[in-house]
Amino acid sequence: MTTNILLDLDRDHVWHPYTSVTNPLPVYPVEKAEGCTIHLKDGRQLVDGMSSWWAAIHGYNHPVLNKAVEDQIKQMSHIMFGGLTHEPAVVLAKKLVEITPAGLEKVFFCDSGSVSVEVAMKMALQYWSSKGDNKKTKFATIRSGYHGDTWNAMSVCDPDTGMHHIFKGSLPVHYFAEQPQCCFNDVWQDDDIDSMRLIIENHHEELAAVILEPIVQGAGGMWFYSPDYLKCLRQLCDQYNVLLIADEIATGFGRTGRLFACEYAGISPDIMCLGKGITGGYLSFAVTLSTKKIAQVIGDGSPGVFMHGPTFMANPLACAVANASINLLLSFNWQECIQSIEKQLVAELEPCRQMNYVEDVRCIGAIGVVEVKEPVDMAIIQKLFVDKGVWIRPFGKNIYLMPPFIISKEELSQLCFSVCEVVSILNGET
Ligand code: PMP
Repeated sequence: MTTNILLDLDRDHVWHPYTSVTNPLPVYPVEKAEGCTIHLKDGRQLVDGMSSWWAAIHGYNHPVLNKAVEDQIKQMSHIMFGGLTHEPAVVLAKKLVEITPAGLEKVFFCDSGSVSVEVAMKMALQYWSSKGDNKKTKFATIRSGYHGDTWNAMSVCDPDTGMHHIFKGSLPVHYFAEQPQCCFNDVWQDDDIDSMRLIIENHHEELAAVILEPIVQGAGGMWFYSPDYLKCLRQLCDQYNVLLIADEIATGFGRTGRLFACEYAGISPDIMCLGKGITGGYLSFAVTLSTKKIAQVIGDGSPGVFMHGPTFMANPLACAVANASINLLLSFNWQECIQSIEKQLVAELEPCRQMNYVEDVRCIGAIGVVEVKEPVDMAIIQKLFVDKGVWIRPFGKNIYLMPPFIISKEELSQLCFSVCEVVSILNGET
């Protein structure tokens, strides 16, 4: 198919994420992707700064991950999980229990990050109803969070600045605390959690759980907050009998410099959501982990079973590639690798800080963010980046990098340099 025909058909029939079909933004046809390089159909090559929305932690077309999928496909690509089980799922569950924070012992396999958030919220509700408490049906969260695009996940995304405000009237209404203001490296201020404390103190009888992204708020604003916030929140949840759900879909598997961001605070949530990097970005897959206690209470209550069970639960291809991806991550000195990415991001994005157009530059682990003062024009900025041979897709006021962990120093420099150049062009126009 020629590129022009492909683009015509795409324009005629295909809906892209968060875009209009009547006034579509440009899209770039991809031929293949390898390592950290995206090969466009027109022959251009782009250095990848996005890891395909933060999932392809080992880059693309990785021989180890390819082999895991190829080996598994010869056994079975899928088999229903009701009444049947298989080695890739069981091995993965055991591994996840071993590497996640202490106390998380039961694994529920899901199809995507949003679904794993739905499952986490349902688990929390079913836990309390199994205990005979039907009043605990609300959730609390912090502003500027993002938890996915399905119904309940949308209800805990920021109701005003998030992407779902048009659904506001139809979504369940929950409690929103102020966004933590103490940055990741700031000295902790106790009053930073006052707004959440008030919500918990006043509404704990109706709160099933607090849900939030630990340390790094991703799609809601790329904000990094203090681990002490999580420590205090864990104490408040324990004190007032409220469950704590950590959405580590974006932060899990090393992205922040720890295997899981909760480790910065030394806390264990009651329920944890993982997705994105779990399969190294190969397949849509996620998990929801819970404590044994939650699983036991649900099992001992009425109706005695957890009410969820998707068709593609524990898909063997996804489980096999997840096993391979986690083994691969743990097989090299990933901490050192993330530290050196962070060091380079800090040094090479620093020039942006001097520009008027720039509000802030911040980095943690393999995440580098240049926050600008005005929302960017996606079509314009995207073309500027593609013309510079990089794939960087900002949102709102955030121009950010989340490269695959295997990125070379030269490739990362090209990404950082392109960000600085593009920001300086935009700076000149303002
Ligand atoms: N939670 C967080 C923290 C996320 O970053 C995302 C995806 N950006 C989701 C949930 C939803 O995941 P998915 O897109 O796989 O449904």
